[in-house]
Amino acid sequence: MGAALSIAATYRPIKRSYLMHWSWRIVNDGVDPAKVPAVSGIDIEWEHPTVSASVSAAKEMVRALSISRLRTKPALRSLHNLGLAVDMSISWRGAVSLTDAMGKVVQIKSGPRTGMNRQLIEVGATYGVRKYRGSGRDVPHWSNSGL
Ligand SMILES: [Zn+2]
Repeated sequence: MGAALSIAATYRPIKRSYLMHWSWRIVNDGVDPAKVPAVSGIDIEWEHPTVSASVSAAKEMVRALSISRLRTKPALRSLHNLGLAVDMSISWRGAVSLTDAMGKVVQIKSGPRTGMNRQLIEVGATYGVRKYRGSGRDVPHWSNSGL
């Protein structure tokens, strides 16, 4: 039996990272919308007539960018900007068999049955796809370096 895989993000333009980062921080870090640094080439008004209007507009953006469930702020710059990272949600039932880059079949019976599984992380590394190992927690994130 195979695993279910859903890829949420691969390449991410720097402009999108900017929108993700600041909308998330207005909603979750209480950043003042008036203090978000402007970036040339990105035409956005963070500040609305009232603070609550600004926060609800940021909430809408967070929802539209599918980052409502994220518990750490999205990075302003990341390997996504270079096309070297992927965010995936992975799950399976029972045991799953995978072939690593050396051709060895690995049967995964241990938990958790997610992208955080130790054996799965080892199989990924044989292909040069490394689980996130930076600060904080980024469950769906994999990249060429683990950052
Ligand atoms: Zn990511």
